[in-house]
Amino acid sequence: MAAAIQTRVNELLGIEHPIIQGGMQWVGTADLASAVSNAGGLGILTSLTQPSPEDLGKEIDRMREMTDKPFGVNLTILPTITPPPYEEYLRVAVEKGVKIVETAGANPAKLVPMLKDAGVTVVHKCTSVRHALSAQEKGVDIVSVDGFECAGHPGEDDIPGLVLLPAAADKLDIPIVASGGIADGRGMAAALALGAEGINMGTRFLCTEEAPVHRNVKEAIVERSELDTELIFRTLNNTARVASNEVSREVVEKLNAGAQFPEVRDLVSGQRGRKVYENGDLDAGIWSCGMVQGVINDIPTCGELVPRIANEAADIITGRLAGFVK
Ligand code: NAD
Repeated sequence: MAAAIQTRVNELLGIEHPIIQGGMQWVGTADLASAVSNAGGLGILTSLTQPSPEDLGKEIDRMREMTDKPFGVNLTILPTITPPPYEEYLRVAVEKGVKIVETAGANPAKLVPMLKDAGVTVVHKCTSVRHALSAQEKGVDIVSVDGFECAGHPGEDDIPGLVLLPAAADKLDIPIVASGGIADGRGMAAALALGAEGINMGTRFLCTEEAPVHRNVKEAIVERSELDTELIFRTLNNTARVASNEVSREVVEKLNAGAQFPEVRDLVSGQRGRKVYENGDLDAGIWSCGMVQGVINDIPTCGELVPRIANEAADIITGRLAGFVK
């Protein structure tokens, strides 16, 4: 058994392993999040997966019936077809006594004072050093730095984690969580070497027994390679990395030919993408998936996965890497 990995992220979040579940749309429900928290990581409920702030409140209650470990709530603010009442979601989370919130997408400046007044630990997820610095100045406790490899929205700078993480670590004082492109202990050890003190994983947790998605999605992730993603919305400055399928390839083709958002809206809507997860028809719509699927080879439970990654990272650091130092 390897030694445990202990960083400021464990301390700030009160968790055994500095491993955080990504705030995935349609996936971050209490089913998955409680399994991650019970495994010693940090499970995350995705606010916008719930149809209303009241439903988020009910999901927080359900979460508390499934775990007594720390967990967080994600709020992602990005262009959306029907703008949700973002602040209402956060208000409900705070009223329900949630102690960890992950913000993502937009500048968190407006939200941080309300969260800090309520004693919430704030993790802000962003895709550039300048946004990470700005979040630190606004008072967030941890930044989650998301490299270009990631699933979902990587921003428009196209800087992969191998460069983005040390560039951020050179500038920041608060702890960094590495996000994007990590699925195992090798990725975790590399992230720690680059300056991070924890990891965030989406696609890896999407491919677990407890993820509330059709088994076809999980088997596709195991079968497919690092080549099988598409970048949609490049021309709209809202780039998103999604699984390569009939719909995502059609969207790329249309946008490259000059189409605007209304011409692809029905193809890309989240409601349509949700059907992939519900029915297992992999071509039913858009679904987020990272390049890291190329190194995902199984469908474990979260209880197996979280300690496995932490132990593997510790073994690599104390074994293979230490062995190179003469
Ligand atoms: P949706 O159905 O509103 O939109 C589908 C996609 O189209 C999203 O990627 C969205 O950003 C994009 N989009 C919407 N309007 C746009 C416009 N005018 N111009 C350019 N792009 C536009 O989204 P949803 O699936 O119901 O999700 C709700 C929100 O939560 C979205 O903003 C989504 O991006 C966000 N979210 C993203 C992640 C992630 O990246 N991993 C996680 C959680 C939530």
